[in-house]
Amino acid sequence: MRITVLAGGVGGARFLQGVRAYAAGLPGSEVTAIINTGDDVTLHGLRICPDLDSVMYTLAGAVDAERGWGREGESWRIMAELTEYGAEPTWFSLGDLDIATHLVRTQMLAAGYPLSDVTAALCQRWQTGVRLLPMTDERCETHVVIADDNGRRAIHFQEWWVRHRAGIPALEFVQVGLESARPAAGVLESLTEADQVLIGPSNPVVSINTILSVPGIRDALRDGPAPVIGLSPIIGGSPVRGMADACLPVLGVETSAAGVAGLYGARSAGGVLDGWLVHTGDTTELPGLAVRSRDLLMTSPEATAAMVADAVALAGR
Ligand code: GDP
Ligand code: CA
Repeated sequence: MRITVLAGGVGGARFLQGVRAYAAGLPGSEVTAIINTGDDVTLHGLRICPDLDSVMYTLAGAVDAERGWGREGESWRIMAELTEYGAEPTWFSLGDLDIATHLVRTQMLAAGYPLSDVTAALCQRWQTGVRLLPMTDERCETHVVIADDNGRRAIHFQEWWVRHRAGIPALEFVQVGLESARPAAGVLESLTEADQVLIGPSNPVVSINTILSVPGIRDALRDGPAPVIGLSPIIGGSPVRGMADACLPVLGVETSAAGVAGLYGARSAGGVLDGWLVHTGDTTELPGLAVRSRDLLMTSPEATAAMVADAVALAGR
């Protein structure tokens, strides 16, 4: 079975551990993940891809389990030196081990390799067991429009999320460069050749909706032969981890499983979903959408693999 997954960073990484565990029970199966790159940022001259790295480190067993991102056994000496120099920004944590990844990536990009090739090269070392594809090879970044004394101002998503902890009201998300971006090499094929497409329980606004907004990706899901099943990232009205509830209202979407399903839409009504898994006690009613409820807490790769099995079963109904 060829499974293609749409995913963001920390939530996406946990989900992919479960997909990989599920696929391990099916000989000859392949898992491809299309990862959000709207969070990418250049700091201190380094190109940083937070979601790709969270997924890569997690699947490699090299992630700091408590934080959910960055390397286990990390040290922060370079960052301390940068702070001594007064080199801005100081609000984005960059570990010493992590910086090596960014150095390799930045050098390869400067040499002309597309991000998809760079990602494959980095994954050579980590043996992730899942093929990781950036959603696009082109640079596009999510910016957040906020109010200031002069009216409105846009800041990079990372500044809003990490520095301000999503505490400044967002007026709008702007995807800089997305309109003219193309899906990265391999992305469209992974959707049109898949037997099963899964939309992981990632941030629906700044992870999944960003991927879906790369021209060509939404159409490939909608027109593709594989069933598309999504898993709700919202449980009982709040995101399990993180601050996704700061994002949905900006789009006028209710923070609920039903709200997110409405955002993605049922395929029969021009959206992308055939089926939707919600957490026990949550509901969604959308014409044309097959809905099933079950425990959606990703407490272990095995528990998540069972979710994936149910998603595949829902697709086969
Ligand atoms: P980020 O890029 O690091 O913010 O991570 P993602 O976009 O991949 O995922 C973050 C989202 O995952 C959060 O907003 C939560 O809604 C969701 N999430 C995290 N843990 C769980 C879980 O155990 N179950 C479900 N259903 N969703 C989760
Ligand atoms: Ca992210």
